[in-house]
Amino acid sequence: MRRHKLALCEEHYLEWFPAQVERAISKYHMFDREQRVLVAVSGGKDSLSLWDVLMQLGYQADGIYVDLGIDGGFGYSKLSFAKIEAFLAGRPAARLHVVDVLAEYGETLPQAARRKLRGRDKPCAVCGLIKRHEMNRIACEHGYDVLATGHNLDDEAAVLLSNVLYWQIGYLARQSPVLAAQDGLARKVKPLCRLYEREVAAYALLRGIDYIYEECPYVTGSTTLFYKEMLNRLEANSPGAKLQFYVHFLRARKEGFLGAQAAQVPLTPCPNCGQPTSVPGLCAFCRLWQPRDSRENDR
Ligand code: SF4
Repeated sequence: MRRHKLALCEEHYLEWFPAQVERAISKYHMFDREQRVLVAVSGGKDSLSLWDVLMQLGYQADGIYVDLGIDGGFGYSKLSFAKIEAFLAGRPAARLHVVDVLAEYGETLPQAARRKLRGRDKPCAVCGLIKRHEMNRIACEHGYDVLATGHNLDDEAAVLLSNVLYWQIGYLARQSPVLAAQDGLARKVKPLCRLYEREVAAYALLRGIDYIYEECPYVTGSTTLFYKEMLNRLEANSPGAKLQFYVHFLRARKEGFLGAQAAQVPLTPCPNCGQPTSVPGLCAFCRLWQPRDSRENDR
C-alpha cells in the first residue's frame, strides 16, 4: 500500500483491514455494538466485505438485497443474488431481507425505467430512487438504527470530483460518511469510505468471499468510471492523492466551508407510502408506479 508505505502479509492484512473499518466507525460516530445495522448488499466485493467485516467485529449486522430484475443478457440480478446466497451458506447466523421489485410492484427496473423515461436515458436515476426508497422502508419497518452502504474511497472521491467540477453545492453539502436520521429517513453510514477499492478487493480475496465480477450492464459509459480513471492516474503519480482529496474536503465541510447549504431540506410525509418527500403530494417513488391516467390527471 504505497499511500501508507506499508506491505503486509495475509495474517496482518486481515488484522489491519478490520482495524481501519473500526477506526472509521468510531471517528465518525457511525454506530455502536448495541445498535442494529442494515447493510445494503449487491453481491459485489464492497458490500459483501462490509457485511463480513462488521460481523467479524461483533456488530449486529443484517443484509438487504433489492432484486431489480436486471438481465443484461447474462442474468445480472440473478447472478448477484447467487453470490449473496453463497456468502450466506457459510454464515448461518446472518439474516437477509430481499425485496423483489417485480413481485412487489409488477415491473422490473428496466421495464419501469423504459415506461418512465421512454427509452431516452439509462435507468440509473430510477434505480437510485427504487433502492433508496426500499432500503429506507425496510430499515424503518424493521427498526434498524442505521443503514450501511459499501461505498469505498474510490467511489467517494469520484463523486466528490464530479460535484466539485460542476459546483453542485447541495450535493456537496450531503456528501458525508454519515447522514443523520431525519423525519422518517434512516441514518446512513459508509464505513469503507477511507479504504481504497483495491484494499477492499484484497480483503474479499483473502477472506475467500466470492463476489460478482461483472458490472451492471447499464454502467457502460458512466461518467463516474471516467472520473475514477482520472483519479487513478493522479494516484499513480502521487500516492495518497485520492485520500487527501476526500479527507481535506470533509475537514473543510466540517469547518463550515459550505455554510448554510449544509442545512437539511424540510420534508413532509408522502400521503401514500408515508415516507418523507421534499415535494408536495406523492413522493417520486409512488409517482413512478401510478397508472398512466392518474399521472396525466396530476399534471
Ligand atoms: S449502473 Fe446499474 S446498478 Fe448502478 S445505478 Fe445504474 S442501473 Fe442501477
